[in-house]
Amino acid sequence: MADWEVVIGLEIHAELLTKSKVFCGCSTEFGGTPNSQVCPVCMGLPGALPVLNRQAVELAIRAGLALGCRINEFSQFDRKHYFYPDLPKAYQVSQNHLPICSDGKVELHIGETTCKIGIERVHLEEEAGKSLHAGENIMSAAYSLLDYNRSGIGLIEIVTKPDIRSPEEARLFLEKLKTLLEYTEVSDCKMEEGSLRCDANISLRPQGSTTFGVKSEIKNLNSFRAVQRALEFEVERQKELLEAGEAVIPETRHWDESQGMTFSMRSKEKAADYRYVPDPNLYPLKVESQWVEAVRRELPELPDARRNRFIEEYDLPPYDAEVLTTSRDLAEYFEACVREVHDPKLVSNWVMGEVLRWLKAHELEAAESPVKPGGLAGLLKLLQENVVSNLVAKDVLAEMFATGKAADVIVEEKGWKQISDSDSLEAIIDQVLADHPGPVADVKGGKTKAIGFLVGQVMKASKGAANPQKVNELIRGRLQA
Ligand code: ADP
Ligand code: ZN
Ligand code: MG
Repeated sequence: MADWEVVIGLEIHAELLTKSKVFCGCSTEFGGTPNSQVCPVCMGLPGALPVLNRQAVELAIRAGLALGCRINEFSQFDRKHYFYPDLPKAYQVSQNHLPICSDGKVELHIGETTCKIGIERVHLEEEAGKSLHAGENIMSAAYSLLDYNRSGIGLIEIVTKPDIRSPEEARLFLEKLKTLLEYTEVSDCKMEEGSLRCDANISLRPQGSTTFGVKSEIKNLNSFRAVQRALEFEVERQKELLEAGEAVIPETRHWDESQGMTFSMRSKEKAADYRYVPDPNLYPLKVESQWVEAVRRELPELPDARRNRFIEEYDLPPYDAEVLTTSRDLAEYFEACVREVHDPKLVSNWVMGEVLRWLKAHELEAAESPVKPGGLAGLLKLLQENVVSNLVAKDVLAEMFATGKAADVIVEEKGWKQISDSDSLEAIIDQVLADHPGPVADVKGGKTKAIGFLVGQVMKASKGAANPQKVNELIRGRLQA
């Protein structure tokens, strides 16, 4: 039986972070009263004329640059026809033949290897409205309600080349894309609010083959995890078909999250079904190179550049640099803390460990953390000065998250200061040595292993407050071990 190679290409829609819609002045605010953010243009009333939003074009350029694309001097808006109640004009304004950006690439760092995923194109288009079905689903609904607040919000569609080779790689690509669009403030990429959506195309071919197999397209992928799971399911489904000598048919399939399966939805539309025509109400779009260069100059440091700088400047392992630069927020949090603590690896360990764990559990971004970089720095300084042990520091941080108090205040209030001064320790050590003559004799007789036991007893007697290194030194001194 042949070994199969998986071939995946993604089509991603991202809502642009503009204040107003792409062809009218209506607000793009999420969650407003239904149909309160509409006008004749985004309702598709006859005679209403579109005016292109300059900021939407600028964000598309920014996205294109961040994805390594060529920004095309001329692009063209086309009408893409289909009929659905949430599409009031019965066509969507999109870009078919001449997109605004072409031919980019995104690098993924997977362990030691780097792989490049080609970007076919990035084009501008508009959102449709939203249907709300009164009932379980569209088929059984007694009626449907329509909300046009979303209608006409600016979108970019990003189309990858069929360069992705596994479901996991598809998820990693999406995470990287989200990072890029967030860094550049092109989109807020909230999958749960629908501002980032993904359709996945997948086919299999015999290992070594140079032609592509027939693909299916999967829709209704509402999370990165869903993308990976749906693709994993689809790999198995297609493999079974091919190995039974049957054909994969080109079709659109629907992912059902609760059943963990894809279902056939409809046969795939062909471009001809959309009857694309240039939109006579919109001029061809001309983007001058000065504009592109101005946008390029204003781009923030991008994640790959920042990752590489973290490796160089802070001497961090690539893994740390990768994790810390997945969000601009997190990278800034880390750097702000390093400016005060001057031990990048120590800061990295705490940010990637305790801080990220807490933020994830509470579904917060680094910028929303109740413990600010200065607060973490305060704690890490106590650790560096041996005022608290590593173990106690973790408890202190948990208290900081819970109460918002500063590290030194908590340590003082709780009496968690580590005992390092010899006088206080000597008294405890005296007692422990007196109580355990056996191990003391062992150590004196050369069995230094027993020192560990004695240190443990001192730690216990001090309720964990003694500085273990100091105790070790003192006991060795006393027993001349
Ligand atoms: P369509 O004609 O169905 O619109 P496109 O060529 O426009 O297909 O590609 C749409 C998406 O599907 C792109 O992301 C592309 O990379 C991907 N794709 C194209 N062919 C294949 C294939 N054989 N297997 C997997 N993905 C594919
Ligand atoms: Zn409007
Ligand atoms: Mg296509």
